[in-house]
Formats: sequence, C-alpha cells, structure tokens
Amino acid sequence: MTANEIRESFKKFFEQKQHAIVPSAPMVIKDDPTLMFTNAGMNQWKDIILGTRDPEPRRRADTQKCLRVSGKHNDLEEVGHDTYHHTMFEMLGNWSFGDYFKEGAIDMAWEYLVDVLKLNPEDLYVTVFEGSPEENIPRDDEAAQYWAKHVPADHIINGNKHDNFWEMGDTGPCGPCSEIHVDSRTPEQKAASGKTGRELVNQDDPQVIEIWNLVFMQFNRKADGSLEKLSMNVIDTGMGFERLVRMLQGKHSNYDTDVFQPIIKAEEQITGLKYTTFEEEANSPEPISKSQDEINVAMRVCADHLRAVSFSIADGQLPSNAKAGYVIRRILRRAVRYAYTFLGQKDGFLYKLIPTLVHEMGDAFPELKAQQTLITKVIKEEEDSFLRTLDKGISLLEKELSNKELSSKVLDGVVAFRLFDTYGFPLDLTELICRENGFTVDEEQFNVEMQKQKERARNAAAVENSDWTELTPGEQQFVGYDYTEYNCHILRYRKVTQKKNEFYELVLDATPFYGEMGGQVGDAGVLVNENETIEIIDAKRENNQTVHIVKQLPKDPTAEFMACVDTDKRHASAANHTATHLLDYALKQVLGDHVEQKGSFVSPDTLRFDFSHFEKVSDEQLREVERMVNDMIRQDIQLDEHRDVPFDEAKKLGAIALFGEKYGDKVRVVRFGPSCEFCGGIHASSTGRIGFFKIIAESSVAAGIRRIEATTGRDCEERLYQMEDILKNIKSFFNNAKDLQGVIQKYIEEHDHMKKEIEGFQAQAVERAAQRLVEKAREVNGVKVITSVIPMSPAAAKDLAFKIRAAVEGSLLCVIGSHDNNKPQLSIMMSDDMVSDHGLNAGQMVREAAKLIQGGGGGQPHFAQAGGKNTDGLSAAVDKVIELANL
Ligand code: ATP
Ligand code: MG
Repeated sequence: MTANEIRESFKKFFEQKQHAIVPSAPMVIKDDPTLMFTNAGMNQWKDIILGTRDPEPRRRADTQKCLRVSGKHNDLEEVGHDTYHHTMFEMLGNWSFGDYFKEGAIDMAWEYLVDVLKLNPEDLYVTVFEGSPEENIPRDDEAAQYWAKHVPADHIINGNKHDNFWEMGDTGPCGPCSEIHVDSRTPEQKAASGKTGRELVNQDDPQVIEIWNLVFMQFNRKADGSLEKLSMNVIDTGMGFERLVRMLQGKHSNYDTDVFQPIIKAEEQITGLKYTTFEEEANSPEPISKSQDEINVAMRVCADHLRAVSFSIADGQLPSNAKAGYVIRRILRRAVRYAYTFLGQKDGFLYKLIPTLVHEMGDAFPELKAQQTLITKVIKEEEDSFLRTLDKGISLLEKELSNKELSSKVLDGVVAFRLFDTYGFPLDLTELICRENGFTVDEEQFNVEMQKQKERARNAAAVENSDWTELTPGEQQFVGYDYTEYNCHILRYRKVTQKKNEFYELVLDATPFYGEMGGQVGDAGVLVNENETIEIIDAKRENNQTVHIVKQLPKDPTAEFMACVDTDKRHASAANHTATHLLDYALKQVLGDHVEQKGSFVSPDTLRFDFSHFEKVSDEQLREVERMVNDMIRQDIQLDEHRDVPFDEAKKLGAIALFGEKYGDKVRVVRFGPSCEFCGGIHASSTGRIGFFKIIAESSVAAGIRRIEATTGRDCEERLYQMEDILKNIKSFFNNAKDLQGVIQKYIEEHDHMKKEIEGFQAQAVERAAQRLVEKAREVNGVKVITSVIPMSPAAAKDLAFKIRAAVEGSLLCVIGSHDNNKPQLSIMMSDDMVSDHGLNAGQMVREAAKLIQGGGGGQPHFAQAGGKNTDGLSAAVDKVIELANL
C-alpha cells in the first residue's frame, strides 16, 4: 500500500465505525498563548474534553499535522539522527467523547492493525498502566483484560506513570494510556540480538518503537493535585502515520518509505550525492564511512525540515524574528546549514524540493498546492538571505573552535551571540555545530548578551500586534471613490501597542476611508451610531484593505455604524493630489521628458514631489510651471476616471506608469485633460477645486533628484495674507510712503553715506588723541610711559595704540583703558626692546591686569588686549600694568 492509500484506509476504517472524518486543524496555533504549534491530535478538542464545547458528533477521526519542536514535546535534536522522529508528522487519531471507551478503543485498534492492515500480531506489544499506590490508582486491569482478548499475556507489559499515565497539563483531564509497540527487527537482527521484543519495548531501540498511543481519559486533576472522575470518559488516540507506513511497507526507517523517498531522490538528483537506505547499509560489506553518514543525516534533516517549514508557511506562519516565526526560521536555517556543510549546497536548495513535496502531499493537503508559489518564494528568500552570512559565520566559528588555547571545550557566549546577532545563527544551530566538534556553548553568557540587546531594543519603537479578533468573516469593500459616508460593520479588530500607547485597528466590511498609500495620507473621521462616536485618527492600507486606527473600541463592536470621513481634510488632500498630477505634467513640459516621478507625499496641508532632473530648476522655470498648473486649474478640467482597466488598455490610454511599482492586472487611470496617470488615490472632482497652486521651495534630495514643495487653495490664501501683513507693517515704518521701494533705497544710501562719515570722524579723533598722548608721555628710567582712560571703540583703541607706537622713538610702554557702551577694554602696546631687553610680555601682563575689569584676553609679547565687564576697574587695571612692568 502507498502512504496515500494507508491514510485513506484509516479514514475509511473509522468512517465505517460511525466516526465523523474531520479535517486536520492548522499546525500553527494563533489563539492559544500556551501553545504555538499543534503537537497532538487532541489539541483541537481541548474545549470538548474540558466540557465547554458541544461534543457532537461523539465519534471523530482525522489525520492531524503536528509539529514537535518546542515546549513539552521537542524532538528536534533526534530528527535526522534517528529514523523515526520528525519535526512535522501526521498523527492519525480517533476520538470518543462519552461514547465507546477502553474496550471499543482497544478492539478497533486491534482490528485495524491486524485484520485490516495485516500486521503480524507476534510483533505487537502493548503496555498498560501499572498503577500508582501514592495516587491510589490501581493497575489498569480493565485495559489489560481487553488486550488479553487479542494478545498473549507476555505481550502485555506494565508501564510506569511517565509512559502510561497521560495528563494534559498540571490540572485538567488525564488518565491511563496503552501504547502499541511494533518489533520491526529483521529475523537476522532478532537472532543476533538474543533479546525478545518484550525486553526492548520503551528502550529506545530504533526497531522496536511505539506506533499508537490510546489514551483513556477518565479523571480530572484538580488544582490541589487530587483526582476526581470526569463526567464524560474520553478516548483520545494518536498513531504516527510515518511509522505506520514504514511497518506496512516492510521498511526499517521512516525515510525509506514513499513518504520521504521521493524527496530524498530529488535531493540525490540535485546534489549528485547518494543516500544509503537501511537495506543498503545492512547489505554493505563494510560499515558506511563517516562522510557518507553525514550525507545521510543531512538528507534526512532536509527532507524533514522542508515539510515542517512548508506546512507552517501554508498555515500562515512565515519565518520571522519572533515567537512562532522564529521557530520556523530556526528549523529552516538548521536545514540550510546541513545542506551547505554536508551536501555542498552553496545556493538555495530546499526550495528546489518543493515541487516534489507538493506532488506527493498536495492531494491530501490542498493548502500546499494552493500556496506553492508563496511557499517557494518565502523559502528561497530565506535561504538566500541566510546563505549570505552563513559562510562568514561558519569560518568565524571554526576559527574559535580551532583556537588551541581553548583548553575548556566551551564556546564563549559572546561569540555565540555575535553569531546570532550578526550572522543569523540561531543558538541551537551554534550548539549543534559545537556539539559536532565536542564543544558546548556558554549559554548563560549568551543569555546575558541577549538581555543587554533586548534592553537596547526596548527603547526603539517596538510595535506589537495582537492577533485579529474575527467578528464576521469576509472581505472589505472600498467605496471611497464614490462616498464619504457609508453604513458598515466591523469585520475584525486587533490591538496594537507602540511605546506603551495602545491603539486598535479595525477592518470594516465596507469603508469610504482611504488608507495611506501612494504618498497620499489616510483619511480621518468617525464611526458613529446612535449610541456612540468613535474617532478614527488615521487609516492605512494593508493587504489591499483599509485598516482604521482608533484609540478605543466601540462598546458593542458588532453593532452597525456609519463610517464618516472628515471631508475638509479629504477635500484638501484630494486637491493636493490632483495638483501633484498637474505639477508632474507641467514639469515634463517645461523641463523635458526625462522628468520621472521618484517620490510623492500628499497631505491636507502640503504636497511634495520628487523627480529626476540634473540641475537646479531656475526661478523662471518654476514660474512657468506655476503658470501652467494655474492655467489648468482655471480651466476647471473634470476628473476622467477609469476603474478596473486591463493594464495594457491603460497603457494605450497614454497613462504614465512608474518604474518599480507593482500593478495588478486591472488598474485605475486618472486623467485631467492632458495629464493621465495610473493612480489609486483620491482626487478632486475637477481641477478648479484646487483653487490656486504655489511652489514654496525647490531643492536637491539626492544625486539627480530634485524636490518641489508646494501648496494649494486655502493655504495659499493664508500665505498671501501673511505676506500682505508683513508688507503693511514695513510701509507703516516708512510713513506709508507710496513708492516704498524708492524710499527704502534712499534710506539705504543715506545709511551708507553716514557710516562713512562717522568712520572719518573717528579716524581724526584717534589721530588727535595719539598726538596729545605722545606729547604728554612721562619718562621712567629711559622708557616713555603713556597711560590713558578714554571712551572709544575697541577697534579705535587698537588703531590708537599702533599710531602711538609709530610716533614714539625709543622705548615705549603704552596702556590704554578704553570703554564703549559700558564695555571696558585694556590695550597694551610696547616697543620691541621692552620685550627683548626688559623681558616684558604684553600678553601675560594683560591677563593679570584684566582681572581688575573682570575679564580676560591675550595677544603677542608686544601688543595685547583684554575685554571685561567692570568699567570702574579700568584705571586700576591701567596702573596695575605699569606696576607689573616694574620700570
Ligand atoms: P516517542 O516516545 O516515540 O517519542 P511519544 O510518547 O512522544 O513517542 P505520543 O506523544 O504518545 O508519542 O504520540 C503518539 C504517536 O505519535 C506515537 O505513538 C508515535 O507514533 C507518533 N510520534 C510521536 N512523536 C513523533 C515524532 N517526533 N515523529 C513521528 N512520529 C511521532
Ligand atoms: Mg516523544
């Protein structure tokens, strides 16, 4: 029997036993914070077992996609190394909710395995719960007695609480279970081992393995740890499909069955390498080499992980950096590394196996077939992105591991974190590679580094979305091109947390709200009914739908509402968007056809348009553009809109498409006279609505890209008033002169003239002061000493000092304390011999003396100046300089 036939036979058998055949629940769980992935068939019946959901129909059966890679059940480390644990596997199950119990379950299981599938009863062993004295639960004699109908006593084995008492969690339904094990050893193996199957049950022998677990839920574990009888007995069974197929196909490894062989064959074909089946290994005269064993493991890992990742993506869980998404990314990266290291695959590999997987499993799981393109794209992209850093990461790790000084065989947690953070190595991958080399990883240090990073990230604006709460299933209808108000219901909502702020996002069944897209901001408005009004602060576009952002949920989210767009803002945005189209058109006319839109932003207040052009747009060109746009506004050209036009037809209409933009098969074309563009935005009904258009700024944003900022309508009006007010004020300064320009011109000329005159007077004054001071100079030990405190600007004081130095022959010490607008200034000027022969330094002296005017300064040895705050201290400061000179 083929795998597909076996799956069908299970369903058929239980259908004949009055079971409803139900579909597998998704493998990815979205609404249970305690469980990310389905790990057993019973997960989807939790509510029924807990008594909160209708148990009808009471008999059910299915095949359930399970993933055991995290939490209580995690088989990841075994996968590929053994031949009977997978990450993703199918669990065949039958359930009875208060219908048949132990006898029915045991009889049916036996009938199916032995009578229908013809498994050899001599190879089957069953376990029963041995009992627990401390819990006061006796041995499950009941089950043993029903088994005894089918198997000899030495095939019934007592099992302990760990293997044979099943509990859903710390509290809740629980009960004993019975496992069915198969001894699948070859006659040679049996003979060679000398052990009976009975002795190998539950001993991790790869050929004596559990295939089916029958759980008899009859107790409820209470919070205090005690047990009470369940009101309804429940049968919950789970049989590993891949293991069953292996038994029926007479194989000794799950990977040798037709569940995996087609994928492994495809791997062989792509890699040019050979996989060794169990038979080939058994018949080989020599044990297989280490490198061949590595190839075998790698091929099993890739075949297994391919399934896990593909099914997760089909169930809506894309690889990502957090939670369930990260589990999937980890599995995928683990496979990529196996393929890279052991199968020599330096480029994307897994995605090439998808056609085979879909061919084999697409009929039983149509979700795979339906989403093949998506799955392929996602996996390829993930592979490509990890392969970009894998090589560097592996060499870094190898370098660390070969570092001879590492006496302890522990990899530094900081290195492990660097591999994680920089090279995308999940910790378990680093651990795996370390293990292969006899190393462990300092996990504690890794966690410390991780914690540090989390703290760094906490400050960044992290957005967290809760899952959608679905009120009514359905798709949204956008009516915003025709309406600004519309009756609606909420289809679904979710909570969004950003920097501790909470918002809700709503999806309506019908909405007039335009969600931010194509540079145009989203609409704002309200959701109203007779009971309440909810403000919609923004709207954005996601997956082709408008998502409405609100600060609070309506009290009754299921009620009918009227969605009303804020039309003032909407009309202003629309006018700006239309103006952007006219601007684009005019720029092409004025500057040339090379002008191509490179970005655009349209809000109610402003518009911004980036375009390719290679030099500054001149003022004349800007004017020309403005005139052209305003002409088109005055022509009041009607909006000519074509919705759902096939792409090619739109091109024929002459519409301008943008590079790098993805368009669907059907597009919308917006035309205003000669301006014709592909556009999904909201526009004015005619250009006249824009009112007026004015460019405010022109600048460069990047090489070859210019930006124009402009404004329209009401905002232009406001700007005009502002300018008028400024002009009025200026006129009033000049007595409301009629010829304002002429008057200002005259004032400027007069000002320049007066400035020159003042400068002339000042120069004369300095000249006179210099003469007077030189005449009055004292002589101390052969040095001419000049001191003075006078009102004068700093520049004039400097001028004065230099004039004095030029006028005096021989040794000179001149100290001028000047003040200007109550600002004191101290200037020291000396002849060169005072520096060379007397050892004086004007810079040092001025710093010391400036303390008296609460200031500081410096300069050269022969000339220095200092400013200060205390004019009253000027004459003391001048005296201080003379004192310091010590003539
Ligand atoms: P095992 O001890 O072999 O890991 P289990 O005790 O974890 O099995 P159950 O939780 O009882 O198994 O699951 C029911 C059945 O599902 C098992 O009898 C087995 O056939 C199958 N099964 C469990 N885990 C895996 C797995 N990782 N891959 C494939 N089949 C599995
Ligand atoms: Mg297990």
